[in-house]
Amino acid sequence: MWRTVFLTLIWLLTTNAYLHAQNLRPCGNTGGASPWLKNYQRNPNAWRKANDTLLLVPLTVHLVGSDEGFGYFPLVGLLNALCQLNADFSQANIQFFLAGPIRFVPNTAWDSHSTILQGAAMMFANNVPNTLNCYIVTDAASNCGYNLPYAGIALTKSCSGAGSHTWAHEAGHALGLPHPFLGWEGGVRHDNSVPPDFSNPAPEFVTYDYTLFKDTLLLDTLIIDTAWVERVDGSNCHFAADGFCDTSPDYLATRWNCNANRQSAQTQLDPDGIAFRSDGTLIMSYANDACQTRFTDEQTAAMRAFLLDRRPQWVSVQPPQPPLHSAAALASPVNGQPSPHNATVLRWIAVPSATQYVIHLSRLVNFGVRDEFLVVNDTTLALGELLPNRTYYWRVRAFNAYHFCSPWSQAATFNTFLSTAVSELEQHSPLVVFPNPAGSGQFIAFSYKAAPVRTATLISPWGQCMLLTEQGGQWRLPAVSPGVYTIRADTEQGILVQRLVVWP
Ligand SMILES: [Zn+2]
Repeated sequence: MWRTVFLTLIWLLTTNAYLHAQNLRPCGNTGGASPWLKNYQRNPNAWRKANDTLLLVPLTVHLVGSDEGFGYFPLVGLLNALCQLNADFSQANIQFFLAGPIRFVPNTAWDSHSTILQGAAMMFANNVPNTLNCYIVTDAASNCGYNLPYAGIALTKSCSGAGSHTWAHEAGHALGLPHPFLGWEGGVRHDNSVPPDFSNPAPEFVTYDYTLFKDTLLLDTLIIDTAWVERVDGSNCHFAADGFCDTSPDYLATRWNCNANRQSAQTQLDPDGIAFRSDGTLIMSYANDACQTRFTDEQTAAMRAFLLDRRPQWVSVQPPQPPLHSAAALASPVNGQPSPHNATVLRWIAVPSATQYVIHLSRLVNFGVRDEFLVVNDTTLALGELLPNRTYYWRVRAFNAYHFCSPWSQAATFNTFLSTAVSELEQHSPLVVFPNPAGSGQFIAFSYKAAPVRTATLISPWGQCMLLTEQGGQWRLPAVSPGVYTIRADTEQGILVQRLVVWP
Protein backbone atom coordinates (compact mmCIF):
# COMPACT_ATOMS: atom_id res chain seq x y z
CA MET A 1 0.00 0.00 0.00
CA TRP A 2 1.37 3.37 -1.01
CA ARG A 3 0.59 6.17 1.31
CA THR A 4 2.33 8.84 3.27
CA VAL A 5 2.79 7.42 6.72
CA PHE A 6 4.91 10.14 8.15
CA LEU A 7 6.12 13.49 7.03
CA THR A 8 8.34 15.90 8.80
CA LEU A 9 9.88 19.22 8.01
CA ILE A 10 13.15 20.30 9.45
CA TRP A 11 14.54 23.79 9.07
CA LEU A 12 18.24 23.85 8.57
CA LEU A 13 20.50 26.82 8.46
CA THR A 14 24.07 26.82 7.24
CA THR A 15 25.24 28.14 10.56
CA ASN A 16 24.17 26.19 13.58
CA ALA A 17 24.35 26.30 17.31
CA TYR A 18 25.98 22.94 17.70
CA LEU A 19 28.78 22.62 20.16
CA HIS A 20 32.20 22.60 18.61
CA ALA A 21 33.60 19.10 18.63
CA GLN A 22 37.06 20.15 19.74
CA ASN A 23 35.69 21.38 23.08
CA LEU A 24 34.17 18.04 23.96
CA ARG A 25 35.56 14.94 25.59
CA PRO A 26 35.80 12.25 22.90
CA CYS A 27 33.78 9.73 24.88
CA GLY A 28 32.15 9.69 28.29
CA ASN A 29 32.89 6.06 28.91
CA THR A 30 35.05 4.82 31.70
CA GLY A 31 33.66 1.36 31.06
CA GLY A 32 35.77 -1.22 32.78
CA ALA A 33 36.72 -4.61 31.48
CA SER A 34 33.45 -6.31 32.36
CA PRO A 35 33.39 -9.61 34.23
CA TRP A 36 32.09 -11.10 30.99
CA LEU A 37 35.07 -9.78 28.98
CA LYS A 38 37.58 -10.97 31.57
CA ASN A 39 35.96 -14.38 31.52
CA TYR A 40 35.94 -14.42 27.70
CA GLN A 41 39.59 -13.42 27.49
CA ARG A 42 40.66 -16.36 29.64
CA ASN A 43 39.75 -18.66 26.73
CA PRO A 44 38.39 -16.85 23.64
CA ASN A 45 38.34 -20.06 21.60
CA ALA A 46 35.64 -21.51 23.82
CA TRP A 47 33.08 -18.97 22.64
CA ARG A 48 30.81 -19.16 19.62
CA LYS A 49 31.35 -16.37 17.12
CA ALA A 50 29.59 -17.61 13.96
CA ASN A 51 32.24 -15.84 11.88
CA ASP A 52 30.67 -16.66 8.52
CA THR A 53 27.28 -15.31 9.51
CA LEU A 54 26.36 -11.69 8.93
CA LEU A 55 25.09 -10.49 12.31
CA LEU A 56 22.30 -7.94 11.85
CA VAL A 57 21.72 -5.67 14.84
CA PRO A 58 18.46 -3.66 15.19
CA LEU A 59 18.84 0.03 16.00
CA THR A 60 16.29 2.54 17.18
CA VAL A 61 17.36 6.07 16.25
CA HIS A 62 16.00 8.91 18.37
CA LEU A 63 16.61 12.39 16.98
CA VAL A 64 16.29 14.85 19.86
CA GLY A 65 15.34 18.49 19.32
CA SER A 66 13.90 21.47 21.16
CA ASP A 67 10.51 21.50 22.89
CA GLU A 68 9.20 23.32 19.80
CA GLY A 69 10.47 20.58 17.49
CA PHE A 70 13.47 22.40 16.02
CA GLY A 71 17.16 21.59 15.79
CA TYR A 72 16.94 17.89 14.99
CA PHE A 73 20.05 16.29 13.50
CA PRO A 74 19.56 16.50 9.71
CA LEU A 75 18.24 13.35 8.05
CA VAL A 76 20.96 13.57 5.41
CA GLY A 77 23.51 13.60 8.24
CA LEU A 78 21.80 10.59 9.77
CA LEU A 79 22.00 8.64 6.49
CA ASN A 80 25.68 9.52 6.11
CA ALA A 81 26.39 8.53 9.72
CA LEU A 82 24.58 5.18 9.36
CA CYS A 83 26.45 4.56 6.10
CA GLN A 84 29.76 5.23 7.91
CA LEU A 85 28.74 3.07 10.89
CA ASN A 86 28.09 0.07 8.65
CA ALA A 87 31.29 0.70 6.68
CA ASP A 88 33.22 0.67 9.97
CA PHE A 89 31.61 -2.65 10.93
CA SER A 90 31.77 -4.36 7.52
CA GLN A 91 35.09 -6.09 8.30
CA ALA A 92 33.54 -7.46 11.49
CA ASN A 93 30.65 -8.88 9.41
CA ILE A 94 28.26 -6.98 11.67
CA GLN A 95 25.69 -4.54 10.23
CA PHE A 96 23.10 -2.32 11.86
CA PHE A 97 19.59 -1.67 10.58
CA LEU A 98 16.63 0.50 11.56
CA ALA A 99 14.25 -1.70 13.54
CA GLY A 100 11.42 0.83 13.26
CA PRO A 101 10.71 4.40 12.23
CA ILE A 102 13.16 7.19 12.99
CA ARG A 103 11.87 8.77 16.21
CA PHE A 104 11.70 12.49 16.85
CA VAL A 105 11.93 13.52 20.50
CA PRO A 106 11.12 17.20 21.12
CA ASN A 107 12.67 17.89 24.51
CA THR A 108 15.06 20.78 25.12
CA ALA A 109 16.31 19.42 28.44
CA TRP A 110 17.21 16.04 26.99
CA ASP A 111 18.64 17.64 23.84
CA SER A 112 21.23 19.44 25.96
CA HIS A 113 21.79 17.37 29.07
CA SER A 114 24.65 18.14 31.40
CA THR A 115 24.96 14.83 33.24
CA ILE A 116 25.04 11.21 32.16
CA LEU A 117 22.29 10.43 34.68
CA GLN A 118 19.97 12.86 32.82
CA GLY A 119 20.85 10.99 29.64
CA ALA A 120 19.99 7.71 31.34
CA ALA A 121 16.59 9.14 32.34
CA MET A 122 16.00 10.15 28.69
CA MET A 123 16.82 6.61 27.58
CA PHE A 124 14.67 4.91 30.22
CA ALA A 125 11.72 7.08 29.10
CA ASN A 126 12.09 6.43 25.36
CA ASN A 127 13.88 3.15 24.76
CA VAL A 128 12.44 0.53 22.43
CA PRO A 129 13.11 -2.94 23.88
CA ASN A 130 15.35 -5.47 22.11
CA THR A 131 17.08 -2.83 20.01
CA LEU A 132 20.24 -0.77 20.44
CA ASN A 133 18.80 2.67 21.23
CA CYS A 134 20.81 5.62 19.91
CA TYR A 135 20.06 9.27 20.74
CA ILE A 136 21.51 12.13 18.68
CA VAL A 137 21.52 15.25 20.83
CA THR A 138 23.05 18.73 20.91
CA ASP A 139 25.01 18.12 24.11
CA ALA A 140 25.66 14.63 25.51
CA ALA A 141 26.97 15.76 28.91
CA SER A 142 29.94 17.52 27.25
CA ASN A 143 31.01 14.35 25.44
CA CYS A 144 31.09 13.46 21.76
CA GLY A 145 29.27 10.34 22.86
CA TYR A 146 28.82 7.74 25.54
CA ASN A 147 27.35 4.28 25.89
CA LEU A 148 25.39 3.12 28.92
CA PRO A 149 25.42 -0.71 28.89
CA TYR A 150 21.97 -0.81 30.55
CA ALA A 151 20.32 1.91 28.44
CA GLY A 152 21.85 3.01 25.13
CA ILE A 153 24.10 5.36 23.20
CA ALA A 154 24.10 9.17 23.19
CA LEU A 155 25.87 10.99 20.35
CA THR A 156 26.51 14.70 19.98
CA LYS A 157 25.38 16.24 16.69
CA SER A 158 28.64 18.13 16.17
CA CYS A 159 30.65 14.87 16.51
CA SER A 160 28.41 12.92 14.11
CA GLY A 161 29.20 14.64 10.81
CA ALA A 162 30.85 13.29 7.67
CA GLY A 163 33.83 11.03 8.36
CA SER A 164 33.07 10.68 12.07
CA HIS A 165 33.67 7.34 13.78
CA THR A 166 32.00 8.36 17.05
CA TRP A 167 28.99 6.12 16.42
CA ALA A 168 31.21 3.11 15.64
CA HIS A 169 33.25 3.82 18.78
CA GLU A 170 30.14 3.90 20.99
CA ALA A 171 28.67 0.86 19.24
CA GLY A 172 31.97 -0.90 20.00
CA HIS A 173 31.36 -0.13 23.67
CA ALA A 174 27.77 -1.38 23.32
CA LEU A 175 29.19 -4.66 21.97
CA GLY A 176 31.43 -5.03 24.99
CA LEU A 177 34.70 -3.33 23.96
CA PRO A 178 36.68 -1.11 26.36
CA HIS A 179 39.18 1.57 25.35
CA PRO A 180 42.68 0.32 24.47
CA PHE A 181 43.89 2.76 27.16
CA LEU A 182 41.59 1.21 29.76
CA GLY A 183 42.39 2.50 33.22
CA TRP A 184 43.77 5.90 32.13
CA GLU A 185 40.33 7.56 31.72
CA GLY A 186 40.71 9.37 35.05
CA GLY A 187 44.48 9.77 34.93
CA VAL A 188 46.84 7.60 36.95
CA ARG A 189 44.38 7.73 39.85
CA HIS A 190 40.67 7.39 39.11
CA ASP A 191 39.84 10.95 40.26
CA ASN A 192 42.27 12.83 37.97
CA SER A 193 44.37 13.75 41.01
CA VAL A 194 47.53 12.33 39.39
CA PRO A 195 47.87 13.28 35.73
CA PRO A 196 49.99 11.08 33.45
CA ASP A 197 53.70 11.92 33.22
CA PHE A 198 54.93 10.55 29.91
CA SER A 199 58.54 11.60 30.50
CA ASN A 200 58.91 8.87 33.10
CA PRO A 201 58.10 5.13 32.95
CA ALA A 202 54.43 4.43 33.56
CA PRO A 203 53.33 2.85 36.85
CA GLU A 204 52.59 -0.86 37.06
CA PHE A 205 48.88 -0.18 37.35
CA VAL A 206 46.35 2.65 37.32
CA THR A 207 42.88 2.98 38.87
CA TYR A 208 39.61 4.07 37.33
CA ASP A 209 36.01 4.77 38.33
CA TYR A 210 33.30 3.07 36.29
CA THR A 211 30.35 3.63 38.60
CA LEU A 212 28.01 4.71 35.78
CA PHE A 213 29.21 2.18 33.21
CA LYS A 214 28.32 -1.16 34.69
CA ASP A 215 25.71 -3.56 33.35
CA THR A 216 23.05 -2.05 35.57
CA LEU A 217 22.67 1.41 37.08
CA LEU A 218 23.40 1.24 40.80
CA LEU A 219 24.10 4.60 42.36
CA ASP A 220 24.79 3.62 45.93
CA THR A 221 28.19 2.10 45.25
CA LEU A 222 31.29 3.81 43.93
CA ILE A 223 33.18 1.31 41.78
CA ILE A 224 36.92 1.85 41.58
CA ASP A 225 38.94 -0.80 39.79
CA THR A 226 42.58 -1.42 39.08
CA ALA A 227 43.98 -1.93 35.59
CA TRP A 228 47.41 -3.31 34.82
CA VAL A 229 49.40 -1.04 32.52
CA GLU A 230 50.22 -2.78 29.22
CA ARG A 231 53.89 -3.35 28.38
CA VAL A 232 55.46 -3.07 24.94
CA ASP A 233 56.95 -6.58 25.08
CA GLY A 234 53.48 -8.13 25.15
CA SER A 235 54.18 -9.99 28.39
CA ASN A 236 50.97 -8.85 30.07
CA CYS A 237 48.78 -7.98 27.06
CA HIS A 238 46.24 -10.73 27.76
CA PHE A 239 45.15 -9.14 31.04
CA ALA A 240 46.56 -5.58 31.07
CA ALA A 241 44.45 -2.62 29.84
CA ASP A 242 41.75 -3.90 27.40
CA GLY A 243 43.08 -7.48 27.51
CA PHE A 244 43.55 -7.69 23.73
CA CYS A 245 47.04 -8.53 22.48
CA ASP A 246 46.51 -7.04 19.00
CA THR A 247 45.81 -3.58 20.41
CA SER A 248 49.23 -2.21 21.28
CA PRO A 249 49.90 -0.17 24.45
CA ASP A 250 48.13 3.21 24.61
CA TYR A 251 47.88 5.54 27.59
CA LEU A 252 46.24 8.53 25.83
CA ALA A 253 42.82 9.32 27.33
CA THR A 254 42.28 12.71 25.69
CA ARG A 255 41.67 13.50 22.00
CA TRP A 256 44.89 13.34 19.94
CA ASN A 257 45.99 13.74 16.36
CA CYS A 258 48.13 11.25 14.49
CA ASN A 259 51.21 11.55 12.28
CA ALA A 260 51.59 10.24 8.71
CA ASN A 261 51.99 6.71 10.14
CA ARG A 262 48.70 7.11 12.02
CA GLN A 263 50.60 7.04 15.32
CA SER A 264 50.52 9.52 18.18
CA ALA A 265 53.02 12.36 18.24
CA GLN A 266 53.19 11.77 21.99
CA THR A 267 55.80 9.19 22.94
CA GLN A 268 55.01 7.20 26.08
CA LEU A 269 57.22 5.02 28.28
CA ASP A 270 55.93 1.67 29.51
CA PRO A 271 56.72 0.40 33.07
CA ASP A 272 60.02 -0.97 31.73
CA GLY A 273 60.93 2.43 30.27
CA ILE A 274 60.41 1.24 26.66
CA ALA A 275 59.24 4.09 24.40
CA PHE A 276 56.26 3.67 22.07
CA ARG A 277 53.60 5.64 20.21
CA SER A 278 49.84 4.88 20.29
CA ASP A 279 48.04 3.31 17.30
CA GLY A 280 45.60 5.85 15.84
CA THR A 281 43.92 3.40 13.47
CA LEU A 282 41.96 1.91 16.35
CA ILE A 283 38.35 3.11 16.42
CA MET A 284 38.29 2.45 20.17
CA SER A 285 41.21 4.87 20.72
CA TYR A 286 40.90 8.62 21.20
CA ALA A 287 42.75 9.43 17.97
CA ASN A 288 41.00 11.90 15.69
CA ASP A 289 38.43 10.66 13.19
CA ALA A 290 40.87 11.01 10.30
CA CYS A 291 43.23 8.49 11.96
CA GLN A 292 40.66 5.84 12.85
CA THR A 293 40.00 2.97 10.45
CA ARG A 294 39.49 -0.35 12.19
CA PHE A 295 38.62 -2.86 14.85
CA THR A 296 41.27 -5.53 15.38
CA ASP A 297 40.66 -9.26 14.88
CA GLU A 298 40.53 -9.87 18.63
CA GLN A 299 38.14 -6.96 19.16
CA THR A 300 35.94 -8.28 16.35
CA ALA A 301 35.89 -11.80 17.80
CA ALA A 302 34.98 -10.42 21.24
CA MET A 303 32.13 -8.28 19.81
CA ARG A 304 30.67 -11.26 17.96
CA ALA A 305 30.92 -13.52 21.00
CA PHE A 306 29.36 -10.77 23.16
CA LEU A 307 26.44 -10.36 20.75
CA LEU A 308 25.70 -14.06 20.56
CA ASP A 309 26.16 -14.71 24.27
CA ARG A 310 25.04 -11.52 26.02
CA ARG A 311 22.76 -9.79 23.50
CA PRO A 312 21.02 -12.60 21.58
CA GLN A 313 17.90 -10.40 21.46
CA TRP A 314 19.90 -8.03 19.22
CA VAL A 315 20.73 -10.67 16.64
CA SER A 316 18.05 -10.45 13.96
CA VAL A 317 16.94 -13.54 12.09
CA GLN A 318 14.93 -11.53 9.54
CA PRO A 319 16.39 -11.40 6.02
CA PRO A 320 17.67 -7.90 5.23
CA GLN A 321 16.02 -5.73 2.60
CA PRO A 322 17.90 -5.74 -0.72
CA PRO A 323 20.35 -2.96 -1.53
CA LEU A 324 19.39 0.03 -3.67
CA HIS A 325 21.06 -0.03 -7.05
CA SER A 326 20.09 3.36 -8.48
CA ALA A 327 19.57 6.94 -7.45
CA ALA A 328 16.07 8.39 -7.54
CA ALA A 329 14.91 10.01 -10.80
CA LEU A 330 12.77 13.13 -10.54
CA ALA A 331 9.50 13.28 -12.51
CA SER A 332 7.91 16.68 -11.95
CA PRO A 333 8.22 19.59 -11.75
CA VAL A 334 11.62 19.71 -13.46
CA ASN A 335 13.57 21.87 -15.91
CA GLY A 336 12.22 25.12 -14.53
CA GLN A 337 8.58 24.21 -15.09
CA PRO A 338 6.08 26.74 -13.76
CA SER A 339 4.31 25.54 -10.66
CA PRO A 340 1.64 27.19 -8.48
CA HIS A 341 3.21 28.77 -5.41
CA ASN A 342 0.68 27.20 -3.07
CA ALA A 343 -0.02 23.84 -4.66
CA THR A 344 3.24 22.32 -5.85
CA VAL A 345 3.46 18.54 -5.67
CA LEU A 346 6.87 16.91 -6.11
CA ARG A 347 6.85 13.54 -7.87
CA TRP A 348 9.67 11.09 -8.45
CA ILE A 349 10.12 7.56 -9.78
CA ALA A 350 10.10 4.82 -7.14
CA VAL A 351 13.55 3.30 -6.55
CA PRO A 352 13.31 -0.51 -6.35
CA SER A 353 13.71 -1.71 -2.71
CA ALA A 354 13.48 1.83 -1.31
CA THR A 355 10.95 2.41 1.45
CA GLN A 356 11.84 5.96 2.50
CA TYR A 357 13.04 9.13 0.85
CA VAL A 358 14.72 12.29 2.08
CA ILE A 359 13.78 15.36 0.02
CA HIS A 360 15.68 18.64 -0.01
CA LEU A 361 14.04 21.85 -1.22
CA SER A 362 16.12 25.00 -1.53
CA ARG A 363 16.33 28.42 -3.13
CA LEU A 364 20.07 27.81 -3.57
CA VAL A 365 21.71 25.64 -6.20
CA ASN A 366 24.09 24.21 -3.56
CA PHE A 367 21.26 23.43 -1.09
CA GLY A 368 23.24 25.34 1.56
CA VAL A 369 19.98 26.49 3.18
CA ARG A 370 17.11 24.11 2.68
CA ASP A 371 13.97 22.45 3.94
CA GLU A 372 14.27 18.74 4.58
CA PHE A 373 11.39 16.26 4.39
CA LEU A 374 11.01 12.57 5.13
CA VAL A 375 8.54 10.60 3.01
CA VAL A 376 7.73 6.99 3.91
CA ASN A 377 6.24 4.55 1.38
CA ASP A 378 5.27 7.22 -1.14
CA THR A 379 6.78 8.97 -4.16
CA THR A 380 4.98 12.30 -3.91
CA LEU A 381 5.34 15.26 -1.61
CA ALA A 382 2.76 18.07 -1.48
CA LEU A 383 4.57 21.25 -0.50
CA GLY A 384 3.07 24.03 1.55
CA GLU A 385 3.05 27.65 0.48
CA LEU A 386 6.19 28.82 -1.31
CA LEU A 387 7.26 32.29 -2.39
CA PRO A 388 5.74 33.17 -5.78
CA ASN A 389 7.93 34.04 -8.76
CA ARG A 390 11.00 32.25 -7.47
CA THR A 391 13.22 29.41 -8.66
CA TYR A 392 13.36 26.38 -6.37
CA TYR A 393 15.80 23.46 -6.44
CA TRP A 394 14.92 19.98 -5.19
CA ARG A 395 16.51 16.53 -4.95
CA VAL A 396 15.67 13.12 -3.50
CA ARG A 397 17.71 10.43 -1.72
CA ALA A 398 16.29 6.92 -1.28
CA PHE A 399 16.98 4.45 1.51
CA ASN A 400 15.54 1.47 3.33
CA ALA A 401 16.02 0.07 6.81
CA TYR A 402 19.30 -1.65 5.86
CA HIS A 403 20.89 0.53 3.17
CA PHE A 404 21.76 4.20 3.71
CA CYS A 405 24.54 4.98 1.23
CA SER A 406 22.71 5.61 -2.03
CA PRO A 407 23.52 8.91 -3.77
CA TRP A 408 21.29 11.92 -4.30
CA SER A 409 19.19 12.22 -7.44
CA GLN A 410 20.16 14.91 -9.91
CA ALA A 411 18.82 18.25 -8.71
CA ALA A 412 15.80 19.70 -10.56
CA THR A 413 14.28 23.17 -10.69
CA PHE A 414 10.84 24.70 -10.93
CA ASN A 415 9.57 28.28 -10.99
CA THR A 416 6.67 29.31 -8.84
CA PHE A 417 3.90 31.59 -10.02
CA LEU A 418 1.30 33.34 -7.93
CA SER A 419 -1.72 31.13 -7.72
CA THR A 420 -4.89 31.07 -5.70
CA ALA A 421 -7.32 28.33 -4.80
CA VAL A 422 -9.62 27.15 -7.56
CA SER A 423 -12.80 28.91 -6.55
CA GLU A 424 -10.97 32.10 -5.71
CA LEU A 425 -9.09 31.86 -8.96
CA GLU A 426 -12.23 31.53 -11.01
CA GLN A 427 -14.00 34.34 -9.19
CA HIS A 428 -11.24 36.90 -8.89
CA SER A 429 -8.76 36.38 -11.68
CA PRO A 430 -8.99 39.28 -14.16
CA LEU A 431 -8.11 36.80 -16.88
CA VAL A 432 -11.15 35.28 -18.62
CA VAL A 433 -10.59 32.35 -20.94
CA PHE A 434 -13.24 31.43 -23.49
CA PRO A 435 -14.63 29.06 -24.29
CA ASN A 436 -14.24 27.38 -20.91
CA PRO A 437 -14.63 24.39 -20.99
CA ALA A 438 -12.77 24.04 -24.29
CA GLY A 439 -12.18 21.05 -26.51
CA SER A 440 -8.80 19.37 -26.79
CA GLY A 441 -6.95 20.81 -29.81
CA GLN A 442 -9.37 23.76 -30.18
CA PHE A 443 -8.63 27.51 -30.14
CA ILE A 444 -9.16 29.66 -27.06
CA ALA A 445 -8.96 33.43 -26.52
CA PHE A 446 -8.39 35.78 -23.59
CA SER A 447 -10.59 38.71 -22.59
CA TYR A 448 -7.88 40.46 -20.62
CA LYS A 449 -7.56 43.90 -22.25
CA ALA A 450 -5.20 45.73 -19.88
CA ALA A 451 -2.15 44.39 -21.68
CA PRO A 452 -1.68 41.98 -24.53
CA VAL A 453 -0.92 38.36 -23.68
CA ARG A 454 2.60 37.65 -24.91
CA THR A 455 2.86 33.93 -24.17
CA ALA A 456 0.35 31.42 -22.89
CA THR A 457 1.16 28.11 -21.18
CA LEU A 458 -1.13 25.19 -20.44
CA ILE A 459 -0.14 23.36 -17.24
CA SER A 460 -1.47 19.86 -16.73
CA PRO A 461 -2.67 18.53 -13.37
CA TRP A 462 0.66 16.66 -13.26
CA GLY A 463 2.76 19.77 -13.70
CA GLN A 464 3.60 19.34 -17.37
CA CYS A 465 3.86 22.60 -19.30
CA MET A 466 2.86 23.13 -22.91
CA LEU A 467 3.40 26.42 -24.72
CA LEU A 468 0.38 27.47 -26.82
CA THR A 469 0.80 28.85 -30.34
CA GLU A 470 -1.01 32.07 -31.32
CA GLN A 471 -2.86 32.66 -34.56
CA GLY A 472 -4.65 35.98 -35.05
CA GLY A 473 -5.42 36.55 -31.37
CA GLN A 474 -6.46 32.95 -30.82
CA TRP A 475 -4.40 30.33 -29.04
CA ARG A 476 -4.45 26.69 -30.06
CA LEU A 477 -4.69 24.07 -27.32
CA PRO A 478 -2.58 20.96 -27.84
CA ALA A 479 -4.27 17.58 -28.00
CA VAL A 480 -4.46 16.63 -24.34
CA SER A 481 -6.52 14.29 -22.21
CA PRO A 482 -9.58 15.77 -20.50
CA GLY A 483 -9.12 17.36 -17.11
CA VAL A 484 -8.78 20.56 -15.13
CA TYR A 485 -5.74 22.50 -16.37
CA THR A 486 -4.19 25.80 -15.45
CA ILE A 487 -3.65 28.49 -18.07
CA ARG A 488 -0.79 30.86 -17.40
CA ALA A 489 -0.66 34.09 -19.40
CA ASP A 490 2.40 36.36 -19.44
CA THR A 491 1.67 40.03 -19.99
CA GLU A 492 3.59 43.27 -19.58
CA GLN A 493 1.70 43.77 -16.33
CA GLY A 494 2.63 40.40 -14.91
CA ILE A 495 1.56 36.80 -14.88
CA LEU A 496 -2.11 35.85 -14.75
CA VAL A 497 -3.55 32.40 -14.20
CA GLN A 498 -6.96 30.83 -14.68
CA ARG A 499 -8.43 27.34 -14.58
CA LEU A 500 -9.42 25.75 -17.86
CA VAL A 501 -11.52 22.62 -18.15
CA VAL A 502 -10.63 20.60 -21.24
CA TRP A 503 -13.24 18.34 -22.83
CA PRO A 504 -12.37 15.33 -24.97
ZN1 LIG B 1 34.81 5.43 24.46
